[in-house]
Amino acid sequence: MSTSRREFLTATASLALLQESSKHPLKIIVAGGHPGDPECGCAGTIARYTDLGHEVTLLYLNRGEGFCGGASLNRCAAIRTGEALKACESLGARAAFASQYDGRAIVDNSHYEAFGRLIDAEKPDVVFTQWPIDRHRDHRAVSILTLDAWFKADNKFALYYYEVAEDTTMFSPTDYVDISSVEPRRRAACYAHVSQQPDKWYPKQVEITRSRGVESGFRQAEAFLRHAESKRAMLP
Ligand SMILES: [Zn+2]
Repeated sequence: MSTSRREFLTATASLALLQESSKHPLKIIVAGGHPGDPECGCAGTIARYTDLGHEVTLLYLNRGEGFCGGASLNRCAAIRTGEALKACESLGARAAFASQYDGRAIVDNSHYEAFGRLIDAEKPDVVFTQWPIDRHRDHRAVSILTLDAWFKADNKFALYYYEVAEDTTMFSPTDYVDISSVEPRRRAACYAHVSQQPDKWYPKQVEITRSRGVESGFRQAEAFLRHAESKRAMLP
């Protein structure tokens, strides 16, 4: 599949609108299970948005308490919070944390309410979250918590799903963002997560964005699936 001329013109018009709208910056949330997930799936798109003057918040469900390489577990939250802050800084984005615990995600009434309040407080125009058919429980949890917030917000913001290497399954994207020009920044944001040994997963994500690039006519692209009932977002 390649980008048709009509799609190309639509994308060009959208980018012009996006540049124009930076006078009234969009508010964007990228939600993920752990520090590193939003970066893995969306760092290129985040860099493109912030370069255009839009405001992006990375909302992590937990602080990665469950794994940080060789360091003792009681240090993981601090180590991984530091890595997340460094990644956000490199992308010109802000970090926020939903106070759940790594590997023990809870999806119940009070956690739906708490997560919904965090999203509402940001008054987002667009929210990206993980695709729910995923190997990791925390990824499935953040996806379903976001979906609930979106339903409760009555479609006020656009909802898009993203993919991450190794864990996302059965993902058929609807939209693509060209990230060829921001590849070094995407890499820097992912490699900020030193404790997660990015050499093990970053090359797999690059394989994904290369193949998404083949599908969309770019050298490298991040791919998204828009919820079928969501309004369209201006993508960079
Ligand atoms: Zn994760």
